Amino acid sequence: MQEITRFIHNIPVDPLTGAVSVPIYQTSTFVQGAPGVNKGYDYARSNNPTRAVLENLIAGLENGATGLAFASGLAAIDAVLKLLQSGDEIVAVDDIYGGAFRLFEQVYKKFGVNVRYVDASDPENIFQAISSRTRMIWLETPSNPTLKIADIAAIASIAKTRQCLLCVDNTFASPALQKPIALGADIVIHSATKYLGGHSDLIAGLVVTASQELGEKIKFYQNACGAILGPFDSWLVIRGLETLHLRMRQHCFSALQIAEFLQDHPAVGRVFYPGLATHPNHAVAKKQSRGYGGIVSFTLKEDTLEAARFLVTGTKLFKLAESLGGIKSLISHSAEMTHKTIPAERRRAGGVNDSLIRLSTGLEEPEDLIRDLCNSLDRIVVKKNVHFQKLETC
Ligand SMILES: *Cc1c(COP(=O)(O)O)cnc(C)c1O
Repeated sequence: MQEITRFIHNIPVDPLTGAVSVPIYQTSTFVQGAPGVNKGYDYARSNNPTRAVLENLIAGLENGATGLAFASGLAAIDAVLKLLQSGDEIVAVDDIYGGAFRLFEQVYKKFGVNVRYVDASDPENIFQAISSRTRMIWLETPSNPTLKIADIAAIASIAKTRQCLLCVDNTFASPALQKPIALGADIVIHSATKYLGGHSDLIAGLVVTASQELGEKIKFYQNACGAILGPFDSWLVIRGLETLHLRMRQHCFSALQIAEFLQDHPAVGRVFYPGLATHPNHAVAKKQSRGYGGIVSFTLKEDTLEAARFLVTGTKLFKLAESLGGIKSLISHSAEMTHKTIPAERRRAGGVNDSLIRLSTGLEEPEDLIRDLCNSLDRIVVKKNVHFQKLETC
């Protein structure tokens, strides 16, 4: 049986009423028959039946033992980091999500947890950065915003021999495309705000562990620290998961066409998309994932903040906004938005040029999206050309 069929039939029918949609248990507490005697639920921070359905579904999708739902992707990351103690080290990808970087540097550092950042495109860099204090390896693949690919299986074997936990932020790929636990990871985290929710209508995070033992440890922090996902938002993520595979198929289909279009446009510099044969780790992406995702980044030939600003304010279907993974296409200018707080030199050294633009391909028809980008790109070329020669690229 195909995964999607199995998944749809794993969504339980309500045993009490037969409702086909999972009920939203909007309650804080549960009546007990006698002290300590209950039906599996006592207080809704510890457990909630709607959240429990989501937690089981994501554990199944990620081939893990335990799933846990949190108030945001960052709350999920935070719960995983609580496995560490003062003096421990993390080796992390250098182009890590900005919010994770802030959490590492401005919160965990003061508690004595240090992080080394390396380019994870080559597993050897990870190997070299591991010290006797390293407890955790932190990957994002594809990474943000330059879509670098790390070889999960190769890094998992390094993690095993050096006795580190391998954590993979699987937000960009989603379990519809990539299953890090099947490739040897110990922990997967998600910002369910993105593809899993899928409709840009909530903030949520998920953790999945390969072993039940690790799941119990993180579940302790989920309850002890309390950053749980509420029942209504849990229901929204379940609803999003129901169409995840279908949506990812279309996101991938459109993103590849857009990447190919961009490669041929005279105003475009470099295109970053793991599905292009020119991507340096295309073969690794092909080996470890079922598709290349919906995010495409590119630079402009005129590599300036002004040119990028002109482009991102010229598109009509691609809305200018942070975030990604929803049904509506979004466009963002990394240097002035997601990477604004990073000093320009450091940002450029990390491959985020002044003109780098990130697209989150939505579910509109790809030909409409391409025309929208083309119109805005042609404005750049026409603006630069003194004779205002009419371009025919659209
Ligand atoms: C958005 C994002 C996060 C943080 O998730 P929130 O739900 O916004 O807290 C973490 N990792 C990646 C890769 C993200 O894109």
